[in-house]
Amino acid sequence: MPLPTANELGYEHLVPWIAPGECCAREQLRWFVEGPIHRYTDGRNRPAIDGSAKLSPHFRFGTLSPKEAVQIALKSLSGKGPVSRTDVLTWIDELIWREFFHQVLAAFPHVVDGPFRQTVVPPSRDPGPERDVLFQAWCSGQTGYPIVDAGMRQLNQTGWMHNRIRMIMASFLIKDLRIDWQSGEQYFMRHLLDADVAANNGNWQWCASTGTDSMPGYRIFNPALQSKKFDPDGVYIRRYVPELAHVSAKRIHEPHLMTADEQILAGCRIGTDYPVPVVDHQLARQEYLNLGKKEAAR
Ligand SMILES: Cc1cc2nc3c(=O)[nH]c(=O)nc-3n(C[C@H](O)[C@H](O)[C@H](O)COP(=O)(O)OP(=O)(O)OC[C@H]3O[C@@H](n4cnc5c(N)ncnc54)[C@H](O)[C@@H]3O)c2cc1C
Repeated sequence: MPLPTANELGYEHLVPWIAPGECCAREQLRWFVEGPIHRYTDGRNRPAIDGSAKLSPHFRFGTLSPKEAVQIALKSLSGKGPVSRTDVLTWIDELIWREFFHQVLAAFPHVVDGPFRQTVVPPSRDPGPERDVLFQAWCSGQTGYPIVDAGMRQLNQTGWMHNRIRMIMASFLIKDLRIDWQSGEQYFMRHLLDADVAANNGNWQWCASTGTDSMPGYRIFNPALQSKKFDPDGVYIRRYVPELAHVSAKRIHEPHLMTADEQILAGCRIGTDYPVPVVDHQLARQEYLNLGKKEAAR
């Protein structure tokens, strides 16, 4: 039987950023422990650079064992050049999160069908055309929020997305668009090369404030602020949202604020070349918080 093409599997076109097999996994690990791991605490939050290991598909498919990765990471502390114990231990912590979510799934299998714990959260938007339009905008990277759109386009084009961006995407879907987290969880499962039931579910539940040790319900990421903080010059945004390539650094995080002249200069008409924001973040945030209070008072 012929293997399905990347296109048939739902990818727009697959950028070969990762090579399969144990040898390639070890090579990738070697690259990481010889450099980026020693700057990981900061580097892991910068989507424009290769600041994390990009080993998740190898862990997912078993072409690299977490035990071996930990041993080699620890060994790197006695290597040549600048090494950082804090950064190495921070990276190992992330591997522990992975193990933790696997334990959660094994001990509490109900998480695949609903919240880990019953907690008061605002109700999701009702099913219907409005919800479907918003969900479609999120899935196709057409929300009018550049950092969200860049993230989704990275996922659709490459099968991977940076962790910081995954958190922003999830918060936006759940708290700004008020769409049930399971819809996002399923979309990620279909498109991530590292799709892993335990890690994906655990992280979505964390973002939805229904998980073991979750993000508090009142904490709502502001996409523009996250973008300014972690992609200040818009390098990551421009890579995946080419219609914003010539927008100034001042406007790249909120291009809908461009004046008519700025739009002409940037070669990008808001509403034509790039969407108007599908929701107003401040209003959506307030609505989410109000609904949460109402729910708690019931
Ligand atoms: C909404 C959401 C969904 C996610 N879905 C998945 C998923 O399906 N599969 C998956 O492997 N990871 C998932 N993650 C966790 C994380 O985003 C990825 O593991 C990480 O981005 C992979 O890139 P890396 O290999 O460069 O990670 P690094 O930062 O180099 O971390 C090393 C390894 O630690 C593990 N790890 C790192 N962060 C986490 C975390 N938060 N939770 C669990 N394990 C972690 C991964 O195995 C990763 O390869 C999700 C995160 C969020 C916020």
